[in-house]
Amino acid sequence: MKRIAVGQLLQETNTLNPLQTTRRDFEIYGLGQGDAVMARYGDTEELSGFASLPQFLGEEVEWLGLLRARAWSGGVLVPGLLAEIVEAFITPLRGHEVDGVLLSLHGAQAAAEDPDVTGFLVQTLRRALGPQVPLVATLDLHANLTRRMVQSADVLVGYHTFPHIDQVRCGQRGARALAHILRTGTRPQVSAWKMPLLTNTDGRTTDRGVLAGLWRELVAAETRAEVLSTAIYMAQPWLDVPELGWTLYQAYLGERPPLDPETVAQTCWQTRAHHQTPFLRPAELVPAALAIPGRPVAVSESHDATNSGAPGDSTLLLEALTKTTIPEGGVLTFCVDPESVKRCFEAGEGASLDLQVGGRIDPYSDPLPLRVQVHTLGRVAYTLSGHGGHNLPVDMGRAAVITAGDTTVVLVEETGPGSSPKLYEAVGLAPRDFKIVIAKSPEGFRQDYEPFAAGILYCGAPGCATPYLLEAGFKSASRPLYPLDQIGEMSQALWAGELRT
Ligand SMILES: [Zn+2]
Repeated sequence: MKRIAVGQLLQETNTLNPLQTTRRDFEIYGLGQGDAVMARYGDTEELSGFASLPQFLGEEVEWLGLLRARAWSGGVLVPGLLAEIVEAFITPLRGHEVDGVLLSLHGAQAAAEDPDVTGFLVQTLRRALGPQVPLVATLDLHANLTRRMVQSADVLVGYHTFPHIDQVRCGQRGARALAHILRTGTRPQVSAWKMPLLTNTDGRTTDRGVLAGLWRELVAAETRAEVLSTAIYMAQPWLDVPELGWTLYQAYLGERPPLDPETVAQTCWQTRAHHQTPFLRPAELVPAALAIPGRPVAVSESHDATNSGAPGDSTLLLEALTKTTIPEGGVLTFCVDPESVKRCFEAGEGASLDLQVGGRIDPYSDPLPLRVQVHTLGRVAYTLSGHGGHNLPVDMGRAAVITAGDTTVVLVEETGPGSSPKLYEAVGLAPRDFKIVIAKSPEGFRQDYEPFAAGILYCGAPGCATPYLLEAGFKSASRPLYPLDQIGEMSQALWAGELRT
């Protein structure tokens, strides 16, 4: 019997979003402590993969639940919240010996007090545990690895898929790595290579595109018995923090990492200027969508992607849509706007009223005055399985379906996944009945929309998740960093090599 401490702290942070993440944002997804971590949340996301640890170990596991804290992508953690969360992770360990620690973390998470929440948590746990207790953590593929994370964890295990559909498998791989250390008493070598490279998330999927071949090699390498983890962490780019950039990470037994770090880094570097996604400005979007036969045309509103931590209330595209005649069912979109939801509930179904829609949080657009009809009142609540979550209960609060001309907008109280058609289906709308349907997701929405969409388009504009990185106004990111700086050779790596202490 092994006693294993287990926990989850999962949120992707967008430092450009001025709306800070609060305790309530975590409460919406459920805060779990003690036994509740596995008893209540053990069939969600990476935790459901952790449950396979006894099989890898060949013996029973007694779980010591620390904290399960999950929130949707958004702004930095509000002051004080980081200390509260870290204390909740540490408290159960006081007076309890554990054989190992297994954590589900994100890796691109920032707080008001610290730009590296994941690193701070792992470092604090390491100090509390001492050097002997093995600690394995899983991360999102868009993690921004820091020296602190690499030095404090024995193994970091990342998603091998983008769109992210391998949360359970990733949890199992974390369990496998921890089981290996516990069974053999051997700590792996770690090779990490930090590249001065930042890119948009679109076009860099794992199943196709410029990096698909390299991903196949990485995934195959990890199936070898002597390899515990391989991944490229492609840093979510709307994260203005030090040490920002891609990282190649390998944990292995023996002399050499399975893949030559410099060769892999050079392959990544060669794709740096690859832009396979033609972003359309909002005014260009409707004509381009109407030129595609059939429906629906699924559109990424990338600059306001709630999956990238943007507020979900930009009005730049909404304004262009409402100005245009859109036949064949019109357009279906959503907007995070609790104030307008409240007004619609006061007015009731069937009412007509003047609203100032959206533009309250997004610093790049203004509220849009619209004369609307309240079509339906309801709630957006469903279970997300697919890109962005596994068996994850989502609650975006009360919802008002409004229409203005050919535009249908689902107004919601809370942010949430912008990649799933379930958002619309939850209030009785079928995306396939519309000519255009908007996803607030830079790339992962394809997983859900491609099977039935007549076409896929990408819209880009100023916003908290703008695809135009040169316009994002980076201040804290370590330099030099491509594309903010012209860098010729990859020899200017920020840090590299064996970092574990
Ligand atoms: Zn990601």
